[in-house]
Amino acid sequence: MSLRGKAGKEMNICPVCGGSESSVAARAGAYEMLNCANCGLGYSEPMRAAPSSRYNVTDYFARWEFARFIGRIPGKGRKLLDVGCGKGIFLKMAERVGYDVYGVDFNGPALKTARQKLPAVMIEEGKAEDFLKRHPELRFDAITAFHVLEHLEDPAGFLISSARHLTRGGMLAVSVPNPLRWQLKYGTEEWDVPPHHLTRWNFNSLNTVFDKAGLKIVFSSAETGFGNDLAYVHAVLNRSWGILSKFKRTPVYNLSQKTGTAGVSGVIGKAAGIKRKLMYIPAVPAVLIAKMTGWHAPGGVSLYVEAVKR
Ligand SMILES: [Zn+2]
Repeated sequence: MSLRGKAGKEMNICPVCGGSESSVAARAGAYEMLNCANCGLGYSEPMRAAPSSRYNVTDYFARWEFARFIGRIPGKGRKLLDVGCGKGIFLKMAERVGYDVYGVDFNGPALKTARQKLPAVMIEEGKAEDFLKRHPELRFDAITAFHVLEHLEDPAGFLISSARHLTRGGMLAVSVPNPLRWQLKYGTEEWDVPPHHLTRWNFNSLNTVFDKAGLKIVFSSAETGFGNDLAYVHAVLNRSWGILSKFKRTPVYNLSQKTGTAGVSGVIGKAAGIKRKLMYIPAVPAVLIAKMTGWHAPGGVSLYVEAVKR
């Protein structure tokens, strides 16, 4: 948010805590990424998202957060909405453990795959807030939004309307990129600037915005998934070896984007799964070196929080 101050100087207001002191963290075209001096949120000026067509080329892959959530929160007979469900990888996982699942995403082409995988499930295209407005009667025991918050023009508004649609004691789980992830030592990543990512979060700014939405954080974690490790090996190779940068998708990149065998059944599915696991073997030494040299310090690639309605 931009205001004119007394001296006609432009004043930027943090969309989470309202703080007006900030410094410029990055510039991308007509956008600036500002760092709030009060809560630590990184936010875009202006807060204007990329058109939804931007996401039609985005790959979705299985994340460690999926397994973390499934392992922690029992699903049987409970209603779950996945915001930013993409191709339905997490929806399928949640359905398997007994959740009654719903999905929303503004990536139309990805939703086609999701609908094929889950033909009986209500999956709608558009913004989460519009989905919730269209279905005022729906209440969820869990709403998940993995790597969604950083794309939104109004993250607080999204959390407030999500909280309204939670049952008493209902759970909202989100994850965002960790601004302290190790690969930033190698420079800014082109996907982590506006208008693709409008905000950068830490646990403090997450706490502030959840509190505003009437939600209490009960669990938080910062981890790195194996797929992420592979993606980083790819990123480093791209930066270190100029020749590789000509190939946007190295074999390591492709490997990091594999999404499991959801939707493929029988012998073919099993064979594909085994082949995929074998393909990981050559990448293991690189990942081990990354772990041992402390490249991951001081934390994981993503921040994950679970919050309950107060
Ligand atoms: Zn702030």
